Amino acid sequence: MTQPNTESKFWWRQGLDALNSDQWEQLCDGCGLCCLHKLEDEETGEYHYTSLACDLLNTTSCECGDYENRTERVPECLKLTQQNYHQALPWLPNSCAYKRVAQGLDLPRWHHLRAGGKALMHKHGLSVSGKVQHAAGIDEDDYQEYVLQWVDGE
Ligand code: SF4
Ligand code: SF4
Repeated sequence: MTQPNTESKFWWRQGLDALNSDQWEQLCDGCGLCCLHKLEDEETGEYHYTSLACDLLNTTSCECGDYENRTERVPECLKLTQQNYHQALPWLPNSCAYKRVAQGLDLPRWHHLRAGGKALMHKHGLSVSGKVQHAAGIDEDDYQEYVLQWVDGE
């Protein structure tokens, strides 16, 4: 088994809690999965992702339309931080960079910090690009019809 190059991989070397704010931001893969509406199964506690996205999400680039002011614009948007990521782990997708590092896993090869850009992630369909729509106008009672099968969560 190949050992990670811990010199260049700050996420291995330092762990989540020791990252500075720039490193923390860099770690996000920009997949957009956490910007999708999710349904929680009250019996099992499992989360199911839907193809319905926050209305601020650019559904092609997967970027937030107002990242700096996101929590003011969308009160239910969770700003992931070193103080709260533990609580978010149950519903973050298994591919999420924060979740992987928290679990002691390396970043996947397609992650921009390893691949040198986000093209590989989009090319392999690992982001929400082109796969989701805005939730505006859709009744919450109908969200069940939009549940995705390809998101690997807990
Ligand atoms: S799921 Fe994780 S890695 Fe992907 S955009 Fe959200 S916070 Fe970033
Ligand atoms: S406000 Fe931005 S970061 Fe927050 S859920 Fe919406 S698109 Fe995602």
